Amino acid sequence: MLGLMQSQQLLISTLIEFAERHHGEGEIVSRRVEGDIHRYTYKEVAVRSRQVANALDGMKLQFSDRVATLAWNGYRHLELYFGVSGTGRVLHTLNPRLHPDQISWIVNHAEDSVLCFDMSFLPIVKAVHGRCPTIKHYVAMCDADKLPVDSGIPGLISYEAWIGAQSSEYKWPSFDENSASSMCYTSGTTGNPKAALYSHRSTMLHALAGALPDALSMSARDTVLPVVPMFHVNAWGLPYSAAMTGAKLVFPGPAMDGKSIFELIEGEKVSFAAGVPTVWQMMLGHMQAGGLRFSTLKRTVIGGSACPPAMITAFNDLYGVEVLHAWGMTEMSPLGTVCTLKNKHLTMSPQEKMLVRLKQGRGVFGVDMKIVDGDGKELPWDGKSYGDLLVKGPWIISAYFKGEGGSPLVDGWFPTGDVATIDAEGYMQITDRSKDVIKSGGEWISSIDVENIAMAHPAVAMAACIGMKHPKWDERPIIAVVKKPGSDVSRDELIAFYEGKTAKWQIPDDVVFVDAIPLGGTGKMQKTKLRELLKDYKLPDA
Ligand code: AMP
Repeated sequence: MLGLMQSQQLLISTLIEFAERHHGEGEIVSRRVEGDIHRYTYKEVAVRSRQVANALDGMKLQFSDRVATLAWNGYRHLELYFGVSGTGRVLHTLNPRLHPDQISWIVNHAEDSVLCFDMSFLPIVKAVHGRCPTIKHYVAMCDADKLPVDSGIPGLISYEAWIGAQSSEYKWPSFDENSASSMCYTSGTTGNPKAALYSHRSTMLHALAGALPDALSMSARDTVLPVVPMFHVNAWGLPYSAAMTGAKLVFPGPAMDGKSIFELIEGEKVSFAAGVPTVWQMMLGHMQAGGLRFSTLKRTVIGGSACPPAMITAFNDLYGVEVLHAWGMTEMSPLGTVCTLKNKHLTMSPQEKMLVRLKQGRGVFGVDMKIVDGDGKELPWDGKSYGDLLVKGPWIISAYFKGEGGSPLVDGWFPTGDVATIDAEGYMQITDRSKDVIKSGGEWISSIDVENIAMAHPAVAMAACIGMKHPKWDERPIIAVVKKPGSDVSRDELIAFYEGKTAKWQIPDDVVFVDAIPLGGTGKMQKTKLRELLKDYKLPDA
């Protein structure tokens, strides 16, 4: 017997329809490429998304055709989030931090039909347009009078002229909720990049789960600053969850430096911010240097790479901001776990609470996890046994776009490539990326643990631990360190700093001071690049 409920499809267009009707006055604030601040409401997002929809229909795009963006976090990008997917086309967010060769490769692989870009990225578009035969239309996300005259890009039109000519009336179509809605290519540390292809259903379920109190806890009382880019895994789903809940959205545009982000948080009374550790590192540096304090920020979700304990302590103890450590990946839309406390933790001492907060957290409803040994045998949830982390759920990929790389699943589970422990309370802790873990004398050393200790030293701005070949131990850890401007620490002082904080054999054998640690397009440390930079390095006793 079937249930007798209405079978309405879960479609992204319903989010913006809901937002218009139920919190139409809710604010969206964007710092624009031009440098000024733009303000409007969900009602206006809805109107302009319908104009985008009409403009796309006018281009005679087919259902599922790809519309690419090269854009910062901003209001026009938000309109494309709803306008493109709402019509049944696929929003393809390109990462502008990639090399033009990679961008053109990705565009050709995705077979994008339209490219909408912020003016900051005009040089990239100039570099790639001759190599992207599938793109039929180029849209510069600017006012009509800002369109460059001699761009050399055929048929270039301004976004405002493109949608300005359109009616604001549009009836969003209904179709199968399993249809593709957006796509994002993975960083591709090995081989060519591969795309996760999200569906309307997966996006809607992810947005619902992401808004829950024990996930990102989004509400109409929040002012949310997604520093995490809209070009990387849909800004962790925040634009969708915001439309669902009526949270005010604040977009930083291209200004991602500590000063600009801090000013936006204060100026717009942001209560909740989301970003990767490298962004917060810059902002904390700016605040510490100027003796600044937050007046409205209550919580911040930090993920994308391990959040160093020193950062959690700084936010919590110096500024009274709760850190939610979160873990996920492009293939997971991205939310997997968020570290929120349970009732039983509330009476614990600050030190004990910190031990919980350092973990990547509990599975969000919808994400099932397990850890397995080298033979695929499931390991216990005891907080000690570590193994390969596998996940499954309705917003986790079943295959990459165009079937690249074959089936990624093992008995229906997606292997994340991360090594983790899970404790009896269900809190997962990432030990390492499986390719970064250091194998020393038959034991594993977590590069994250080694980095976290160095990051707690007051003179260290950034630290990356990698394994170096060793004749006796197979591999030994060394730590590459960027010093804070104006601070100093010697090799021996830093090695001594590890004493008593970890087992002796886990203390790195050497410290290498570097000017910068290579970062990838999404702010993650690129250890392969670091290894290349240090290819001539020899361990002191090797
Ligand atoms: P991406 O798909 O580019 O977002 O990368 C996903 C990978 O980033 C994960 O598989 C992890 O290795 C890493 N990652 C994400 N969040 C965290 C975190 N909180 N702690 C440690 N690693 C993380």
